[in-house]
Amino acid sequence: MFLKEFEGRALFRKYSLPVAPSVLLNNTTDFREALDAFVDEHPNVAAFVLKAQILSGKRGKGGGILFADRSKVSQEVDQFFGKEVNGHVVREILVQEKVDIQKEFYLSMALDRSRACLIAIFSEEGGVDIEELAQHSPEKILEVALSEDWEKSLSLFREALKEHSSLANTVQEKIIEVAEHLYRLCYDEEALLAEINPLILSKDDQLIAADSKVTIDNNALDRHPDYNHRDVRGHSALELEAREYGLAYVELDGNVAIIGNGAGLVMATLDAVDEYGGDHASPANFCDVGGGASAEMVKKALEIVLQKEGVQALFINVFGGITHCDEVAKGILDAQKNKKYEIPMVIRMVGTNDEEARKLLNEAGMKAYLSFEEAAKNVTSFLS
Ligand code: GDP
Ligand code: MN
Repeated sequence: MFLKEFEGRALFRKYSLPVAPSVLLNNTTDFREALDAFVDEHPNVAAFVLKAQILSGKRGKGGGILFADRSKVSQEVDQFFGKEVNGHVVREILVQEKVDIQKEFYLSMALDRSRACLIAIFSEEGGVDIEELAQHSPEKILEVALSEDWEKSLSLFREALKEHSSLANTVQEKIIEVAEHLYRLCYDEEALLAEINPLILSKDDQLIAADSKVTIDNNALDRHPDYNHRDVRGHSALELEAREYGLAYVELDGNVAIIGNGAGLVMATLDAVDEYGGDHASPANFCDVGGGASAEMVKKALEIVLQKEGVQALFINVFGGITHCDEVAKGILDAQKNKKYEIPMVIRMVGTNDEEARKLLNEAGMKAYLSFEEAAKNVTSFLS
C-alpha cells in the first residue's frame, strides 16, 4: 500500500527521523483555524511550503509544491485547493516550514526481491529523479545490501559512505543515524520502500527529511491494523463490493466479463479470451467465486461483473469438483430471473453434477458447453 507524504511523515516521526514542523489541511473541514494557529505558533518563519497530498511523485514539476511568504500563505492555500496536479485534485495540503537548503541528498531503503534483502541507496545529488540519475550518472549512486544484522549493515554502509563521499565527517555521521532510523522503520512496519528525497542538509547543518515515499507490504497489513484505510485505497467500488461477498474480483479494461472457480482456471480463461479475441475482445475482469460456491455467491458474482461499464458478453467457466455445477446453474438462473440480462452469455461446465446443471439450463433455454476451447471461441465471436 502506498502511503501519502503526510502518512509517511507520521512514521518518520514515530521512528525519530527528523522532519520540519507541518500541519495537514483538508478542504472538507474548517482548515482556516488550524492554519492560522500553525502560522502563529511559528512567528519567526518567513516562508512556508505548500505540498499537495496526492498519491503521485514529481509533484514539484507538476505544480504540486508551492512556496509562500508568511503573509500570503492563507491566500495561496485557498487557490491551491481544487487545482489538478498530475491528474489528481488537491483536497489535502501539508503546510510546512520552509527549510533553507544547503544541499539535497537522496536516501532510501527498498526490498530487493532478487537478492532477498533490503538495500540502502544513497546519493549526494538528491531532489532529482533518481531513475534518471541512475541512467546518466550511476557512479553517483551508492548501493549497500543490508541484512537483519544491523551492526554489520551499519558498518558496511559507513565504509561505503567513507569511500565514496567527500562530505564532512559530522554530516556523514548524521546520515548514518538517519539511515539507522529508516532501517528500523522498514523492518518494523514491513515496508517495501521507504524513500527520503530530498533529505535536506539545511543552512544550519541539520538533516531534514523533506519528503516521504513509503510503501507497506500489502501481505503484512493484517499485522498493522492502524492502516484502516487499506480497504478503500486503489480499489473500485465494484471491487470493494465483491470483497464483502468473498469474491476475488479485479477490474480489467476489456469487454468480456469472466467468472470461474479457482484462480488457475480463471487465469486460463482470461488467456483464452485474449487469444481468441484478437483485437475485438478481451477480459473485462478477473472473478473467482472460489471452491464450493453457493448459488447465492454465483448470483452475486454475475450482478457484480455485469455492472461494469463496457461489458458486452459474459463467459462462465466452471470445472466442478467441490463446486457443484447445479449450484452454479441455479445462481445463473436466479440472477437472470432477477435482472433479465440481454447480453450474450456463454457457459462451459464439466464435473460434479454437470448433468443436473445442463438440465436446469436447458429448461430455461440456455446451454452449457463441455469444451473450454469451443466456449472461448464462441464468446469472442459475438463481438467480432
Ligand atoms: P516531489 O516533487 O513530489 O518529490 O515533492 P518534494 O516534496 O520532494 O518537493 C519537490 C522539491 O521541492 C524538492 O526536491 C525541493 O527541492 C523542494 N522543497 C521541498 N521542501 C522544501 C523546503 O522545505 N525548502 C526548500 N527550499 N525547498 C523544498
Ligand atoms: Mn520528493
